[in-house]
Amino acid sequence: MFRNFKLVPNVIFGRGCFSQMDEIIEKQRTDTDAWAVFVTDDVFQGKDLEKRIPLHDKDLLLWVNVDDEPKTSYVDKLTLEVKNTRSTLPCAVIGIGGGSSMDLAKAISLMLTNVGSSTLYQGWDLIQNPAVYHAAVPTLSGTGAEVSRTTVLTGPEKKLGMNSDYTVFDQIVLDPELIQNVPKDQHFYTGMDCYIHCVESLEGTFLNEFSKSYGEKSLALCRQVFIDNHQDKDDKLMMASFFGGMSIAYSQVGACHALSYGLSYVLGTHHGIGCCITFDALEEYYPDGVKEFRTMMEQTGIDIPRGLTANLSETQMETMITVALGLDPLWENCLGKDWKSIMTRDKARSLFLKI
Ligand code: NAD
Ligand code: ZN
Repeated sequence: MFRNFKLVPNVIFGRGCFSQMDEIIEKQRTDTDAWAVFVTDDVFQGKDLEKRIPLHDKDLLLWVNVDDEPKTSYVDKLTLEVKNTRSTLPCAVIGIGGGSSMDLAKAISLMLTNVGSSTLYQGWDLIQNPAVYHAAVPTLSGTGAEVSRTTVLTGPEKKLGMNSDYTVFDQIVLDPELIQNVPKDQHFYTGMDCYIHCVESLEGTFLNEFSKSYGEKSLALCRQVFIDNHQDKDDKLMMASFFGGMSIAYSQVGACHALSYGLSYVLGTHHGIGCCITFDALEEYYPDGVKEFRTMMEQTGIDIPRGLTANLSETQMETMITVALGLDPLWENCLGKDWKSIMTRDKARSLFLKI
């Protein structure tokens, strides 16, 4: 069965293109009561970007905090806040920030038109009704959240996205100027998320020409950013993220993402840094990728924390292994159909003990 997946229909790219945001959203303001919600990372409070958000009188500027990665309880709270603002639905929800803020915007736009808690929709194609029009403005590049059909949420029982065609953004605004002041370590961690997406896609058993074409280009762009320190590195990383997201959309990620989900579930480790930590322990599976990753780390002068699992209780370790091994498609992509005989619980434990 071939997957027939939805793409973002509208994309604008270029330094300074955020200035066209008002014009873009204007098309959604079809009546006099129309109002938009700007779901914005609170790191921009009081910064220049805040002044550039094209707010109209009735619009809501909804600051979001992403110290913790998005939780279903936070999505439910924010959705209620939007619903309580006016008696009508907003005409647009715009996410401004990194993967977390973009995911929050996707989730709010879905939950405004679907009843109950967001926990009900963690899974594949559970969403019943189309979302409110939603757009994204990435201010951090690497996750590919701007092109994906999921919004990753941690719920009381699981860390799982709301995967659906309705999740896909209606518009993305790719302005490389917005990522130029990201702190160096965060820039690296999120950038490596993209690099790892490409390695896992290109080395995976699910590879096909569609994923390969996007993955190879994205990998080449990552090298220009993190090895050559290219003068146009912001433009390049923004496109690498987009292409990396397109590559995994039609293949899958692999062992690193599976292990990082376990790590994140038990220790709350954030996605980018978590992927860096687990990737460093996967030389056996991705020898060339891990070698190049270490070169990039050296080149950018970034280090990663180590010894994370040294003081875990047995229960925590067992949970970490269960969460990681629960991601069947990721392991199948990495190791093939027979993956269960290769990635045993003992093997997974030995990998976790390395980090
Ligand atoms: P993030 O959005 O969690 O942000 C990381 C930090 O960078 C935060 O402190 C944020 O405030 C700050 N930040 C963002 N932009 C900044 C800027 N321009 N200047 C200064 N600081 C800035 O980081 P991320 O790595 O982009 O996203 C990770 C999240 O994305 C996780 O929640 C992960 O689950 C999710 N994710 C989603 C998908 C998807 O397809 N939906 C894919 C991968 C990851
Ligand atoms: Zn990732």
